[in-house]
Amino acid sequence: MIYNQILVRFGDLTLKGKNQKVFLKTLYKLFSQKMAGLNVDIDYLFDRIFIHLNDEDVNKVIERLNLVSGISSYSLVLKCSNDLEDIKIKSKELMDEVVKTKVTFKVNTRKRFKDYPMHSMDVTKAVSGYVLKNNQNLVVDVHNPEVELNIEIREDGAYLFNTHIRAMGGYPVGVAGKGLLMLSGGIDSPVAGYLAMKQGVEIECIHFESTPLTSIESAQKVVDLVKKLAKYAPNNKINVHMVPFKELHMALLDNVPESYNITIMRRMMYRIATKLAIKKDCLCLINGESVGQVASQTLGSINTINSVTNYPILRPLCTYDKIDIIELSKKIDCYDLSIKPFEDCCTVYVPKAPATAPKKHLAEKYEEAFDYEKMVDWCVENTNSITISKDSDLDFTFEGLEVREVIKTLKEQKRC
Ligand code: ATP
Ligand code: MG
Repeated sequence: MIYNQILVRFGDLTLKGKNQKVFLKTLYKLFSQKMAGLNVDIDYLFDRIFIHLNDEDVNKVIERLNLVSGISSYSLVLKCSNDLEDIKIKSKELMDEVVKTKVTFKVNTRKRFKDYPMHSMDVTKAVSGYVLKNNQNLVVDVHNPEVELNIEIREDGAYLFNTHIRAMGGYPVGVAGKGLLMLSGGIDSPVAGYLAMKQGVEIECIHFESTPLTSIESAQKVVDLVKKLAKYAPNNKINVHMVPFKELHMALLDNVPESYNITIMRRMMYRIATKLAIKKDCLCLINGESVGQVASQTLGSINTINSVTNYPILRPLCTYDKIDIIELSKKIDCYDLSIKPFEDCCTVYVPKAPATAPKKHLAEKYEEAFDYEKMVDWCVENTNSITISKDSDLDFTFEGLEVREVIKTLKEQKRC
């Protein structure tokens, strides 16, 4: 491969104003965490990062790059000295490598080294003249070229590149503070978590588990999904809070009319999640709701469910349609896990006719039938927390045990 470096950009820093320092500090730290273990050298500059590829596999490096939120784009670079003769020769070599059929092309030069003895226009002319003469496939088109050769002249050399590839974008995860992701085993919530992290929000996860009403495999599925999300997280780790939801779940199934099961179950989830978020210093809740997708996600339902909390709730997917969500789910490698057919608490005892426009006053009335407040507090107090890293080998599938017992056993064995 002809390239020897990767030039990494992080968007327009002037937009980040006073937060520039925090942005850069968080980004550099995240970046070095994701590159750990690769045979590369990294230069952290104010407006760019340069990766020296050494002999490392470029695809591996790019795979890691795509885990860093806050990076807007990158280019594969051939670096040479900033001597004009060297720039000409290397530019030709690069074009010979890249161009195999007739294409239109243009050279752009940018001087980032003020004392360089030539004007950028003159470099452009000299290089394009030389390359055109020596590569019969190239035809100049300065307005709409198919290939652009960019030359960035810096004090330590010239950087030649012909691609501009979009990266994850957003902000380095952590700069926006922390949120609590309501994570089911479905397709949507992991994607919502990914998008929140991309926007700079560090996440902890809350999962409501009703083992043994639901299978232990459904809890394992959540662990496996968190491992996928942890690749994007600071330190490659995410805290997960498993809420023992079975008792409350059964109480509400016994006490409220079937058509309001889901509405009231979700009101309970919001109550517990809000209390836990406060306890864990999370500034918002995040979930995978998408307007209209199912009965509990009509605007009427969202209104009645949301009214139990005044905590901010981010719904990154609220306007996404399922096709877009699935595409993202595949991109973050969660899809095959998410579609595994284990039941979670939203899928056991699904009412035949769930209310699509549940009324707040009716939900409140039905909730009076049982002492849910105590149970909500009990759930918060008895939540089992674990930390899951991207390489975790946690196996939850102890036959016949509930999640709380599994976690207790794993903790005794110092495995989580
Ligand atoms: P998902 O694909 O994320 O499961 P969904 O389309 O199946 O979403 P619901 O089951 O109504 O929709 O859940 C809506 C959101 O509520 C989920 O995206 C998730 O954020 C949260 N949620 C649902 N069930 C649970 C659970 N057992 N634990 C934690 N959060 C949950
Ligand atoms: Mg679901």
